[in-house]
Amino acid sequence: HLPEAAGDLEFARALFRYSESGPVVLHELDLHIPAGQTVAVVGRTGAGKSTLAKLLARFYDVSTGAVRLDGVDLRELAVADHHRHVAMVTQEAFLFSGTIRGNIALGRPDASEAEIIAAAKAVGCHDLIMELPEGYATDVNKRGGRLSAGQRQLISFARAFLADPAVLILDEATSSLDLPSEALVQQGLERLLGNRTALIIAHRLSTVAIADRVLVIEDGRVVEDGAPEEL
Ligand code: ATP
Ligand code: MG
Repeated sequence: HLPEAAGDLEFARALFRYSESGPVVLHELDLHIPAGQTVAVVGRTGAGKSTLAKLLARFYDVSTGAVRLDGVDLRELAVADHHRHVAMVTQEAFLFSGTIRGNIALGRPDASEAEIIAAAKAVGCHDLIMELPEGYATDVNKRGGRLSAGQRQLISFARAFLADPAVLILDEATSSLDLPSEALVQQGLERLLGNRTALIIAHRLSTVAIADRVLVIEDGRVVEDGAPEEL
């Protein structure tokens, strides 16, 4: 049981294959990510970036070795604790049918209106929500087509902000945004990151630039590990 988490992550000889007879997709990875660090993960398609994220998110468990949060093996962590401490944000910005309010409060159904608004303000999407005819009560399905990709991303950031996990995993969208939206999303991302530990599968150079550390993955191995300015 881990009621509070600092967000220290460790991969210890973490090896993974999707099936017992399948190829090794991550090779005995040793990696320590101290609490609060923002790590950008880059590498070619098929390198293993999403697999790394999925192990942290516990979509899968390692085949051998371990992944630990604050020294605790993820497999020994109660699902509810893991869920609270580690959140995955996909920037293909998945909104569920229902209101914007409901979408932000997903995973925090107990949240007050004030908390929901505070989260939206924190990541910079309160004003755009208020410009919609029904504000927070706007149905994303009905209006969904009219929310831009950038707006959807900001709403998913508000959801993550409200959930307040120690560890954030982001698989950044490959789809490009126009420049004003990109700037808003970038700003929202920085505010969302705060002091959390973050692993970001980065497709934008601007994201790599704000990271403390960049990992280059190739064929399931970390081939470079350093500050963005060193790469
Ligand atoms: P991309 O940049 O295209 O998203 P990636 O770096 O995220 O690539 P992964 O999705 O982690 O790459 O895939 C790593 C390897 O694992 C690839 O060889 C891929 O084909 C394989 N793989 C991914 N998902 C599965 C799966 N569900 N079952 C079997 N093999 C998989
Ligand atoms: Mg991927």
